Amino acid sequence: MLIPRFEDRCISCLRAPPFEEGKGFTKEHVIPRALGGILHCEFLCPKCNGEYGHTFERKTRRDPAIRRAIWGLRNELPHLYRKIEKGQPKTVGANGDELPHLSKGETLTPLISLKIAYEFACLSFGSPMLANDNPALREIRRTLIQGDTHAPVYRVQDMIAKDRTPRPFHGIAFEGNDPHAVIQVRLFGYLAYRVHFPNLAIQKEPFGYTHTLDDAKEWISPRDQEAA
Ligand SMILES: [Zn+2]
Repeated sequence: MLIPRFEDRCISCLRAPPFEEGKGFTKEHVIPRALGGILHCEFLCPKCNGEYGHTFERKTRRDPAIRRAIWGLRNELPHLYRKIEKGQPKTVGANGDELPHLSKGETLTPLISLKIAYEFACLSFGSPMLANDNPALREIRRTLIQGDTHAPVYRVQDMIAKDRTPRPFHGIAFEGNDPHAVIQVRLFGYLAYRVHFPNLAIQKEPFGYTHTLDDAKEWISPRDQEAA
């Protein structure tokens, strides 16, 4: 789903084109394309897009939680399974099957959830998200550009489902203000991260975005059971 850009400024550094070497806006996938994400908008400058891609987004595919999830979906999503697992270390199981070899060191950086939540908020709420006189929003953008995992402007609450059963969908939901804005990011059904913005309240009704990976359907809806 391509969402039209709401303002001719980069949502990360707030610059207007022309950018470096006379380039224009670049296509940005809200949920990383490496994970099969298809919600996108041309709202980042080449520099910001490149920096996200080369720093934290690049590592997403190697995250053990992501690899475990796509392993569980390998029969339902064979194409995405091969794409994510390409060139990654393997081991051999007791019955001779090839299994993903999962390192303990790499886990999903909270910056991925923050980036997804911020971009989703920009798509949903538009220009007010780019206000430069709002210290909370300025600090969120600084955090993303500098890759600061400990900035107090956001908090990521890990809500991974206890049954650890992956399901073939991604979702993002604005849950409302309780009392601050909370956006939930859900990857492969059970990897769920609640992104809290302690200094931000958004005056909108809760709603969500769902993308089913097996039949490539996308929809935006008032908050429902699936995104809750
Ligand atoms: Zn930028």
